[in-house]
Amino acid sequence: MDISSTILKPRKNTRQIQVGKVKIGGGALISVQSMTTTKTADVEGTLGQIYELAAAGADIVRCTCNEREAAEGLAKIIPRSPVPIIADIHFHHEMALAALEAGVNGLRLNPGNLRKPEEIKQIAAEAKDRGVPIRIGVNAGSLHPDLYTKYNGATPEALIESVEMELNYFREVDFDDVKISVKASSVPLMVRSYELASEKFDYPLHLGVTEAGPPPSGLIKATAGIATLLFEGIGDTIRYSLTADPVEEAKAGRQLLEALGLRERRGIDLIACPSCGRAEVDVIKVATLAQARLEELKLPLQVAVMGCVVNGPGEARAADLGIAAGRHRGHLFIKGKIVKVVPEDEMVEALVEEAIKLAEEGVEARLAAADKNAAKEAELDRQELLSQKGADVNSSEIVIDKIRRKY
Ligand code: SF4
Repeated sequence: MDISSTILKPRKNTRQIQVGKVKIGGGALISVQSMTTTKTADVEGTLGQIYELAAAGADIVRCTCNEREAAEGLAKIIPRSPVPIIADIHFHHEMALAALEAGVNGLRLNPGNLRKPEEIKQIAAEAKDRGVPIRIGVNAGSLHPDLYTKYNGATPEALIESVEMELNYFREVDFDDVKISVKASSVPLMVRSYELASEKFDYPLHLGVTEAGPPPSGLIKATAGIATLLFEGIGDTIRYSLTADPVEEAKAGRQLLEALGLRERRGIDLIACPSCGRAEVDVIKVATLAQARLEELKLPLQVAVMGCVVNGPGEARAADLGIAAGRHRGHLFIKGKIVKVVPEDEMVEALVEEAIKLAEEGVEARLAAADKNAAKEAELDRQELLSQKGADVNSSEIVIDKIRRKY
């Protein structure tokens, strides 16, 4: 957490709201959201997906409430859900009222398609009585037509005015248990819209790049938008909108927050070298295999897979644990210190075994249990490789010499 708190801009101090047991804004941890893709009327199917999303890192899950059967499904889902449930409402105000009746922990309203002031106020008044917060979920793609005409398109200012119109209706019934989103599929438009929202309002903001598409391009677009704003101290809750299994959304959200140091690591952070002419193994294969095995363990460790022993252990000395390949052997290291040398085909197994012991026993105990000859054997491998391949394995110096002589 320390380095992030000095590099990221301080988080904007927003008001705090509460969605079920999850606090949002006002210094609370940034939460991860995702949305089910099942029919909400399919209670068991939806609950199964909610459990998967929660296990993958979602703190809050949104379900569509588009018909009476969906509201009835919510009534059965909410008491059994491991995380708070938000009902997603478009067009039909009576579905918002039915979702409140079903006991939802939050509502998302789209001002672009729920436009009748009396209906909006009725929902807000009912939410107020029940202590349920509402997200004003403005979307550039479904902006109120009048605003689209007024601003000649979906501009950041048009999105903000849409929020203000909704807030004015809410104020008429004295409702301010609100969070805001101003999503767009264009990353620059999304970023500017949230910056404006952050300047203008002190309500918590829900970040997202809408309709980001399938991975990997969807992941890149969503990360570009969300991470830029988080670096600016903007954002209280996030959602990756991917055209993919929603579990990928929850994982991505959680991993982004962990990568920025905004949430505690709860799973493996695998780092691996990109490989080069020195690599003694197929780094991609070993790293992929190691990732699959280690992810199952859910241990809060940073683990390195390095292609050679010449630079590997040194470059990855900050990792909790790592393995580097050398002369058909793997050098296992903890915090950069060699603890064991294993045959090449046992590298992944040794890494997994040590990860479990490290998580159970701690660094000091595992360093004390190190194989006494390991460091010496490892250094022999290193020296042998250096003498075989030289210090300039990619022949860069020869090329540089040629450039200097020719030009
Ligand atoms: S020098 Fe070694 S550790 Fe670094 S990229 Fe090449 S193979 Fe990987």
